[in-house]
Amino acid sequence: MKEIGHWINGKLVAGTSGRFTDVYNPATGEVQAKVSLATKAELDAAVAAAEAAQPGWAATNPQRRARVMMKFGDLINQHMEELATLVSAEHGKTLPDARGDVQRGLEVIEVCMGAPAMLKGEYTDSAGPGIDLYAMRQPLGVVAGIAPFNFPAMIPLWKMGPALSAGNAMILKPSERCPSTSLRLAELAKEAGLPDGVLQVVNGDKEVVDAILDNETVQAVGFVGSTPIAQYIYGRAANNGKRAQCFGGAKNHMIIMPDADLDKAADALVGASMGAAGERCMAISVAVPVGKETADKLIEKLIPKIEKLKVGPYTAGEDVDFGPVITKQALDRITGLIGSGVDQGATLVVDGRGLKIQGYENGFFVGPTLFDDVTPEMDIYKQEIFGPVLSTVRMETYAEALKLVIDNEYGNGTSIFTADGDTARDFASRVNVGMVGINFPIPVPLSYYSFGGWKKSAFGDLNQYGPDAFRFYTKTKTVTARWFSGIKEGASLNFKALD
Ligand code: NAD
Repeated sequence: MKEIGHWINGKLVAGTSGRFTDVYNPATGEVQAKVSLATKAELDAAVAAAEAAQPGWAATNPQRRARVMMKFGDLINQHMEELATLVSAEHGKTLPDARGDVQRGLEVIEVCMGAPAMLKGEYTDSAGPGIDLYAMRQPLGVVAGIAPFNFPAMIPLWKMGPALSAGNAMILKPSERCPSTSLRLAELAKEAGLPDGVLQVVNGDKEVVDAILDNETVQAVGFVGSTPIAQYIYGRAANNGKRAQCFGGAKNHMIIMPDADLDKAADALVGASMGAAGERCMAISVAVPVGKETADKLIEKLIPKIEKLKVGPYTAGEDVDFGPVITKQALDRITGLIGSGVDQGATLVVDGRGLKIQGYENGFFVGPTLFDDVTPEMDIYKQEIFGPVLSTVRMETYAEALKLVIDNEYGNGTSIFTADGDTARDFASRVNVGMVGINFPIPVPLSYYSFGGWKKSAFGDLNQYGPDAFRFYTKTKTVTARWFSGIKEGASLNFKALD
């Protein structure tokens, strides 16, 4: 059985804890590797080495650090297929989707090629008599990134790019479900010129995460994962005096107005709810049609589109629409929730339970599932299902639909489909959600903006990637400098003692 270890001081090393967890092939249900779960001692040693490497990296001028990012980006591009295959093999998503996972991470590295511009300071000449005032951005030292399973390339790159190009050393803790992509990215970063020790990839579970949170050298924690863990990490990191930005789960709604182009809205809904088997924090999991006629027509259009989706392993070809979910536990949780929806009175329009794929009978597959007549009291509405399940909550008016989104405890993304600019503007202005799409289903901002939700979808300050990430991974120092006058008296050519 293949054993996956860690990336420490520029090389792959075996874990020493003797503790492992299984890495599955979600399409077959088989264990394909065991990943080592690091101890506190292993983490502390990795941090100490990162602390030793960081000052040299911080002293490397910003443009040279940016050149490492240029080479890194180039290597990611060259290895796109290999990286996408690594993602698919452990996560189960289709290859075209896995390429997107790598691509959206690469785009953050592209912005980091311009890190020197992001890191520029501020300067006020003559802020007082003979006084100049300036502010500079300095790296924090050793920082940490903790990633979820669902974007094995993108989120590690979102964390690494800004932190490293700002002159920090980083401890990256990938998801134990999909550890291999981060290790390969670390190898490529070294090939791009990143000095040994500046990026340490430490695999593990709660034990190593807690060790990161309690390590006094680690200055900041960038976390992405589920809401309960995000909230826990935020609290423990803050209690230990660290900066923390912790991005959590989601329940993203799409409002469909009566004047919307329903064909386009239906296509957008299918892609945004079922893509990656619904395992996206920006997946649309709730459709909110306004008015009975809109709802009836929408459901009518959704059924054939959903029924013809092809579910299968990533190896079955590029026409597979989505793959398995990540684990047997995820499969059981999702099918259990579908059952609860039926029990609690929702109308199950398309049932994805019990899907068996020939040759992959033990794979973790859930078919596409559509519910109508869902109400906010039902568990399928209240919980983040994180599976290919779309719930329809019918509303009579725009005001009711808006209130539903506002009252939801999550606030990652949302979308409205309408032909009316005034409604769209009103929605964008009043909704209490971090990322808003107008006739656009998954409004993930491009990499030169920043990404972050509101409410229980994010804890802490500042968003991830883009300008906010450079603020998060640097601290500001302001200098007030006064130079007393005297030099202007002119040069003395006589050899004399200094006064
Ligand atoms: P998760 O919370 O289970 O795990 C995330 C990370 O936390 C992993 O590295 C894991 O090892 C660690 N972890 C898990 N339990 C822990 C514990 N008890 N103590 C300390 N660390 C622990 O999340 P997941 O299942 O890997 O990812 C799916 C979730 O991530 C979904 O809720 C999804 O919405 C969310 N997500 C959010 C964003 C965002 O930007 N808001 C992006 C992607 C995914």
